[in-house]
Amino acid sequence: MPPANYPRLRVGEVATPKVAVRGAAGGAIMDAMPELPEVETIRRDLEPHVVGRRIVRTWCSDGPRYGDIHDAAGRAILALRRRGKYLLAELGEVGTVASPDAVSGIAARELVIHLGMSGRLFTAASRPDSPHLRAVIELDGPEHLYFDDMRKFGQLLVVRPGEYEALETLAHMGPEPLSADFDAENFHRALVASRAPVKAVLLGQRVVAGIGNIYADEALFLAGIHPGSRSVSRPQSRRLHAALKQVLAEAIANRGTSFSLYRDGHLREGNHYRELKVYDREDQPCPRCHTAICKTRIAGRGTHFCPSCQKPPRSTGNGRG
Ligand SMILES: [Zn+2]
Repeated sequence: MPPANYPRLRVGEVATPKVAVRGAAGGAIMDAMPELPEVETIRRDLEPHVVGRRIVRTWCSDGPRYGDIHDAAGRAILALRRRGKYLLAELGEVGTVASPDAVSGIAARELVIHLGMSGRLFTAASRPDSPHLRAVIELDGPEHLYFDDMRKFGQLLVVRPGEYEALETLAHMGPEPLSADFDAENFHRALVASRAPVKAVLLGQRVVAGIGNIYADEALFLAGIHPGSRSVSRPQSRRLHAALKQVLAEAIANRGTSFSLYRDGHLREGNHYRELKVYDREDQPCPRCHTAICKTRIAGRGTHFCPSCQKPPRSTGNGRG
């Protein structure tokens, strides 16, 4: 059952300055988008409302990123999973709903959902009045599933189970950081093998899944590693491995970070923003040493770090040892 405070839908407010502008500097944070904790929060919110429901019909707005979901109609949602920053709805034939066998692998299709920068996926009893509504998935229950996406970087796609050729990032996704598959020694080897800045490796999704700009900065701070470092020692990679698990688990516990446009499956803001140590805290004191947090650009993304706690990598030929 929906909670008592189930949203009075105000999707049209998405673009109002009150919501779009956050952060100590007062400016909208343009390079933040939903990462693993935000997507996991949405998954947990939606799961009890959609799993077991049959998709009656679908509607999509024009555009190549949303138009490919009509094949979902007539199938039931057997499970709602997450992989990295993707939501995966397992779809099966009507009548196999809640069958353990069906959930374990006989699902006929998967609905793949990526929120992009501003995508919002939520259930509601009636169609929201929003100019940014991109898809409607009508269910055989009191609520339907809606996808609203102001900036149009999101994506919806129906594929055969596990066939992700059209989704290169998903097809080559590294291990889930909160699972046992995320092995510290393998992680260290991958960091050593890469010649890219460590932050770029984290953002790349192939070494570890689900990390974006916010949690890369936060984990590198916790591990005491400069985000531009191209050479990471075994103790450093061990610390980073643990830091990633810690920041992601804490952010999930806080229902994600609402930086600008993210809302959970009930269109509420996440609570993790005030827990951030470096992200979006340029010129504010480091919580550990009180040095002013710096902002630079690494891997094409705004990057926050403490110049004292996260020493820059030593330049080669500069009196090593
Ligand atoms: Zn510091």
